[in-house]
Amino acid sequence: IHLQNAEFVRSAAKKEDFPRDGLPQIVFSGRSNVGKSSVINRILNRKNFARVGNAPGKTSHINYFRIDGKFYLVDLPGYGYAKVSQAEKARWARLIQSWFDDPGLMTLGCMLVDARHKPTADDCTMGEWFKQAGKPFVVVANKLDKLKKSEIEPNLQRIRDTLEIDADIEVIPFSAEKGTGRPDLLGQISAHLGE
Ligand code: GDP
Repeated sequence: IHLQNAEFVRSAAKKEDFPRDGLPQIVFSGRSNVGKSSVINRILNRKNFARVGNAPGKTSHINYFRIDGKFYLVDLPGYGYAKVSQAEKARWARLIQSWFDDPGLMTLGCMLVDARHKPTADDCTMGEWFKQAGKPFVVVANKLDKLKKSEIEPNLQRIRDTLEIDADIEVIPFSAEKGTGRPDLLGQISAHLGE
């Protein structure tokens, strides 16, 4: 797959906008500022493709990218902004719920968390949605470069424990900054594309 061959397809604000042409959909979710745009750029080997440092409050759209004509990379809006109104949070939840409720959509989930921190309550909610979806997913622990070596194992274990994920679900240590974990995540993606 030529990952750099990536094109923006559309921003979906309602379920009628979700593509349903049968191409596999690899979805990325995470708290705002976890580095989701940076991880996507790193995966695609592109600079400034998914926008880094999005203005907080852009929570209302799901961005679809088509990668080499082979799959959709689905960028769910970030969550956990402090300054978002209840109404906007509710709209966010409805949009995400409608995506997860559509059983045909997700091929593989990539749930991003911050390697430094214990997953938040919002992360745990997101984790529940992935578990309930019954589709394969991985947890990507980003910003690994900010950890001391001795912190890595305990932090990864804390992520696993807090999200209460089964042993068969991979937690991939990742650094969008350094490229750590890229081969692992790409391996998971290609495995689920049947490549
Ligand atoms: P998003 O809101 O989740 O899309 O996050 P961004 O990709 O915009 O990144 C938020 C901030 O975290 C930016 O300042 C990035 O440079 C920084 N960042 C993202 N990934 C990493 C990483 O792996 N390591 C470090 N040190 N910083 C990162």
